[in-house]
Amino acid sequence: MSLELHCHTTASDGVLTPCQLLELAYENGLNTLAITDHDTVEGLKSAKERARSLGIELIPGVELSCYQECEIHVLGYFVDPDNSQLLATLSAMKKARRERIEKILSLLAEAGIKISWEQVEVHSQGGVLGRPHVARALVESGVVADIGEAFSAFLGEGKRAYVPHRLLTPREASSLIKRSGGIAVLAHPGLCGNDALIEKLLCEGYFDGIEVYHPAHTSKMTSKFRRLSKRLDLLLTGGSDFHRPGAVELGGVVVPADTLYNLKLAAGVLGS
Ligand code: AMP
Ligand code: FE
Ligand code: FE
Ligand code: ZN
Repeated sequence: MSLELHCHTTASDGVLTPCQLLELAYENGLNTLAITDHDTVEGLKSAKERARSLGIELIPGVELSCYQECEIHVLGYFVDPDNSQLLATLSAMKKARRERIEKILSLLAEAGIKISWEQVEVHSQGGVLGRPHVARALVESGVVADIGEAFSAFLGEGKRAYVPHRLLTPREASSLIKRSGGIAVLAHPGLCGNDALIEKLLCEGYFDGIEVYHPAHTSKMTSKFRRLSKRLDLLLTGGSDFHRPGAVELGGVVVPADTLYNLKLAAGVLGS
């Protein structure tokens, strides 16, 4: 059983279209793929058809951007992509993301760096706009050498062109996912850097699971979050957070053999 539970397409900040991503999944021998774009389910439409023709099981997913003391991402699995409440929130988030990019561009202009809306949009390929698209424009303009520098110098939390995305709290995101029929999983908790906050959020009982395995987690973090998932009786998941070829491979993060079974059991979709 070869599984990928966390990846992005051009519907958000990935570089492969949903169809290209599925073709890569097929080449990599994956049986099951959850597409988890940031704040959109748009990519699932074209993915569904391609997945069927390639014989890959597609899990409808999403990764919601939230804010509580720091950036928190919440993964939703088996959400209903036609749920009206989910779609209304995603539409508000799309608008807020555009306004946020406008603010980021003004902050960059204040710092003497002129990046136009068009220079950013060309990288988004019609998907919801995010900081990685601004980062690519900064690299293309020669302002920074690479995407990493764009974040460490300008776009990352606390940097001079940082604008937080504060539309949802983790609690609201998790409730929305559950109302859409899905399973809510706290994404890459190690990236937040505030273990007390993570534990508090998980103890409140809003989440069904925790993403234990992630490329940004050290082995110490992985052990700690695995223990936490057992102690709080939460589902344990993992994935590569694939955005582009060249870094961690699609399907490159191995999760325990019973992960998919447990996720399906919790979602009530076993046998489907
Ligand atoms: P946004 O959704 O606009 O808040 O942008 C967040 C996305 O930016 C994340 O999902 C990553 O894909 C990317 N990102 C965040 N920090 C970094 C970093 N330091 N280097 C490269 N990409 C990053
Ligand atoms: Fe991303
Ligand atoms: Fe994330
Ligand atoms: Zn992600």
